Amino acid sequence: MRVLLLGGAGYIGTHVALDFIERGDSVGIYDNLSSGFMKNILPESTFYQGDILDAARLGEVLSIGWDAVVHLAAFKAAGESMTNPEKYSINNITGSLNIIIGCIKHNIKNFVLSSSAAVYGEPAYIPIDEKHPTNPENYYGYTKLAIERHLEWYSNLKGLNYASLRYFNAAGYDSNGRMTGIERDPANLIPVVMEAALGKRKLLKIFGNDYDTRDGTGVRDYIHVSDLADGHVKAVDYIVSKNKNLTVNLGSEHGLSVLEILNESRKVSGREIPAEITARRPGDPAGLIASSSKAKKLLGWKPKYSSIETIISTTWAVYKQ
Ligand code: UDP
Repeated sequence: MRVLLLGGAGYIGTHVALDFIERGDSVGIYDNLSSGFMKNILPESTFYQGDILDAARLGEVLSIGWDAVVHLAAFKAAGESMTNPEKYSINNITGSLNIIIGCIKHNIKNFVLSSSAAVYGEPAYIPIDEKHPTNPENYYGYTKLAIERHLEWYSNLKGLNYASLRYFNAAGYDSNGRMTGIERDPANLIPVVMEAALGKRKLLKIFGNDYDTRDGTGVRDYIHVSDLADGHVKAVDYIVSKNKNLTVNLGSEHGLSVLEILNESRKVSGREIPAEITARRPGDPAGLIASSSKAKKLLGWKPKYSSIETIISTTWAVYKQ
């Protein structure tokens, strides 16, 4: 198959590229390198530098001919989306529409979207399945939901097949050490813990220890990026072979607290990792845990790398370099 990965030089995209390449697909990577890693672009793939806001350049690359596109080119900082929504409107919504419209124009029939559990908002029940109401709590989550809805319309009106993959908390690195790009100026828990372990930041601020969880700190469903990558390959195969759409959660189905992540990171790194309890971060729910039974049933997908040990050890292996 010929697969174009938009945003394929980023943290998740590079791992997705690896999986498609490993099974012998022909992979193109379209990326503006705003946060992507040139060093992780595998020589087996073809790299096209470009921005999804540059419709002319995008059209040129889409016109090459692809069986499927995977769209991973989005901004993802929930907090920033609340203070600078314009940035998210332009890149996440306008950029995605450019891709969808480009696919229609160039007769590309299959579209996989990197969506997010942020479409659900404050959980009404746990584990969260795909029938859970969608009420995003931040503008980032809204942009993902809006793109999902555009895909539904274009599927009905123009026959585009799509898969919306609602990721829970992506974490970890390739266990063979092939991907080593680290995020600049991260806000997510695990990269922040790693930077505190290295002394790149003074300490980890634990955002609240008075939640109704087993140790009082926030609980999230961390899913290893190599498991996410496998979900993309299976989703492409599903929509191509069945000529059907798909909306599924990709999560590990078990929760880890901030303290559990911190303690495991201390153990694996052998570093002290200073931490202090601070106020809750606005908008943070106590716990988020996925039900992934739909992905398991429809795709035969099953997480293999999402234990706390593998997530932290593969991440530390990259950061300690
Ligand atoms: N968190 C924290 N300190 C940080 C970053 C995150 O205590 O510096 C907590 C946060 O409150 C949440 C969990 O870690 O309970 C995961 O946060 P992250 O930003 O990684 O992902 P989110 O689930 O918010 O998208």
